[in-house]
Amino acid sequence: MSPEEFRRHGKQVVDWIADYLAGISSYPVMSQVKPGEIRAALPSRPPEEGEPFENVLADLERVLLPGITHWQHPGFFAYFPSNASGPAILGDLLSSGLGVQGMLWVTSPACTELETVVVDWLAELLGLPEHFRTDAAGGGVIQDSASSACLVALLAALHRAGGGRVAAEGVDRRYTLYVTSQTHSSLEKAARIAGLGAAAVRGVDVDPGTLAMDPGHLRTLLAEDEAAGAVPAMVCATVGTTSTTAIDPVPAIGEVCRERGVWLHVDAAYAGVAAVCPELRWLNDGVAAYADSYSTNPHKWLLTNFDCTVLWTADRAPLLGALSILPEYLRNAATTTGSVVDYRDWQVPLGRRFRALKLWSVIRWYGAEGLREHIRKGVALARELAGWIAADPGFRLHEPHPLGLVCFRPVWRGLPAAESDRATLRLMELLNASGSMYLTHTKVSGRVLLRMAIGTAATERQHVERAWEQIRREHAALSATLP
Ligand code: PLP
Repeated sequence: MSPEEFRRHGKQVVDWIADYLAGISSYPVMSQVKPGEIRAALPSRPPEEGEPFENVLADLERVLLPGITHWQHPGFFAYFPSNASGPAILGDLLSSGLGVQGMLWVTSPACTELETVVVDWLAELLGLPEHFRTDAAGGGVIQDSASSACLVALLAALHRAGGGRVAAEGVDRRYTLYVTSQTHSSLEKAARIAGLGAAAVRGVDVDPGTLAMDPGHLRTLLAEDEAAGAVPAMVCATVGTTSTTAIDPVPAIGEVCRERGVWLHVDAAYAGVAAVCPELRWLNDGVAAYADSYSTNPHKWLLTNFDCTVLWTADRAPLLGALSILPEYLRNAATTTGSVVDYRDWQVPLGRRFRALKLWSVIRWYGAEGLREHIRKGVALARELAGWIAADPGFRLHEPHPLGLVCFRPVWRGLPAAESDRATLRLMELLNASGSMYLTHTKVSGRVLLRMAIGTAATERQHVERAWEQIRREHAALSATLP
């Protein structure tokens, strides 16, 4: 494709995206295709001869769009939001256009140095501690996902817990990792990848009301495990759990970690970015004093297209100790001087995209005030929705709901718990099949709850209100059919 052809098709693509975003409300939120349907509509063999780019766009519309779930739809309330935005899309396009691979400072100095600036900016915007900044002992780095951030944190924690020997000698002792039933599954995955195995993952009790980690039980478990010969490597506290946005008490957990010399990772994948609002800075309580590492996902709620997780560490030395390898083919003068950052040493893969461009574009386009406005809108809409649910005797609200996620369950009069849960899931299927919204569910104390996560850029009050009215209507209609 010549630059002139690229210009022509590039304009078509940008127009296509602009039309798509402008008309996104007209699509059913959740794709309704059956497994295999999209694959069956595509040729099984690659073309022998090249085709005009228009054919790709035509097939995108005709074949692929029915198989797309529209994450930017104003009725998307599933999982957590995965925000896209104009500046992030354009920043990503520029990154693709430049086509650089920023594994080393020397392979594109601007790729590294912009990333350093942007993660330091974000630390400042979120009110994170000075020692997370790159000109201090720590530093931030963009990872593809929170799962990678947790894995990298665990590798650094193991390095420190093993006195710097794990990188060379492997997992020579029974290292353990502490989570709760509410911690994201990526922590167990990280333990498996690191060779610790799922058996190394120790479950700390949660408070049955708040679902937050019980620091007293953590203290007991650490003491018991150490007495039994284990080496506690890392505790993961979550600020904003995936299921219900429960908040682990980081200061109390941090105190226990400090007593025992155990690495504290704070996973704030969804909630962390909300600290851009000063009134939500309490989300960072304990982070400055106790966290060895901390991660949050601008790709969830901060208007930055997937993928973009930022991981900060209070001390980069264990991270670099765990992951640095310098083969001859990567040697270069800048690395040898030690005066540059080589982000390949801060992550699992060697190669890396120029992700900082999209985060930079987002922060510059919206400014701190624009980012705050976006978060505040989600929090305010969630609060209003929670008020409607609490006032309706046909529903039970799950408390607390500090951010954009509201969990609740419909009441099914006269039905025992198991059948009620089945009815709740049936209601969710009906709502999702309607095309106007997409909800997901979770289980708390054995009961199914519906999750409504508000935070898509296009979601306004009218969308939440309409969705709530539809939930009430469908609940009444389904109730009427039950015995
Ligand atoms: N941690 C928490 C608390 C999450 O909620 C999630 C995803 O929802 C993750 C980790 C995993 O995120 P990612 O998809 O970036 O790996």
